[in-house]
Amino acid sequence: ETHKLLELKYSPTATVDQVAIELLANIELPEDATQAIDLGAIGVGLFRSEFLFMDRHQALPDEEQQYQEYRRVVDLMHGLPVNIRTIDVGADKALGASADVSQTGTSPLGLRAIRWSLTEPEIFLTQLRAILRASAHGQARIMIPMLAHVREIDETLRLIEKAKQQLHQRGQAFNPNIQVGAMIEVPAAALVLPLFINRFDYLSIGTNDLIQYTLAIDRADHAVAHLYDPLHPAILNLLFSIIDQAKRANIPVAVCGEMAGDPTMTKLLLGLGLTDFSMHFSQLLLVKREILKADVGLLKSRVMAVLQAIEPEDQAQALEKLMA
Ligand code: PEP
Ligand code: MG
Repeated sequence: ETHKLLELKYSPTATVDQVAIELLANIELPEDATQAIDLGAIGVGLFRSEFLFMDRHQALPDEEQQYQEYRRVVDLMHGLPVNIRTIDVGADKALGASADVSQTGTSPLGLRAIRWSLTEPEIFLTQLRAILRASAHGQARIMIPMLAHVREIDETLRLIEKAKQQLHQRGQAFNPNIQVGAMIEVPAAALVLPLFINRFDYLSIGTNDLIQYTLAIDRADHAVAHLYDPLHPAILNLLFSIIDQAKRANIPVAVCGEMAGDPTMTKLLLGLGLTDFSMHFSQLLLVKREILKADVGLLKSRVMAVLQAIEPEDQAQALEKLMA
């Protein structure tokens, strides 16, 4: 069974009706990229860079140390895209204790991710310069977590330009056309998607947080874990809306939350029009097996019934038909 699954890594990833699908890997440590490549990933869709910042026994990594780590992933991926998500601390992910910087707080609604980065512009600029320097050696990209406000977008893009200027002044190499993407993981962002489509090169949907914020369920609170439901009709309709708008605008859109790596969700996501998936490398072949069996044309013709089903029995029936 495992043997058979491993054989799948050599076949192209396409559906029965020949729709090409891109499978990328989520990684937390640079060395994870080796497994990603071994299992056939065609890039790193999400490098959770904050894991470089969470060591309680060490100072925050400086520009050179970060550059070495990003460079390592870029080198291991041999020219394939590497989406480096800027530091996403706060909520359940604490910054290393020795850090002499503003505290993030533990509320998922508090100072986390890009909100924190924008309050610490020197740390953010340091990270941006390190990513930019890695972009001279391969396809490093900058991905921004948890944006919701246009002024956060504007400030972020301004700091990226500033980091480029600083490197230019130092005479250090970087890709001036580095791609910059936004994570769509706050419902407000999904509801004003053109603001993001107009300002970024690509989008990546963080379903873990999108579900948390849309359903008002703290994803770290076990007392409400039973209400954390990826199949809530509000979630499915929001996902369809994001994917559909992005496809119409011709801007790449991926899902990099856990949903993308759940083989029981693959058909549904294909039916919603998704073609780019990013997941923990252990899930790559399980999801690929589902893709190779799927007929996107058929799934798309059946997905509207799922989206329109609000009553649980109706949804169950529509989903059963879709999965058949
Ligand atoms: C997400 O929110 O879906 C996501 C991929 O980011 P993280 O799980 O790191 O918050
Ligand atoms: Mg997230």
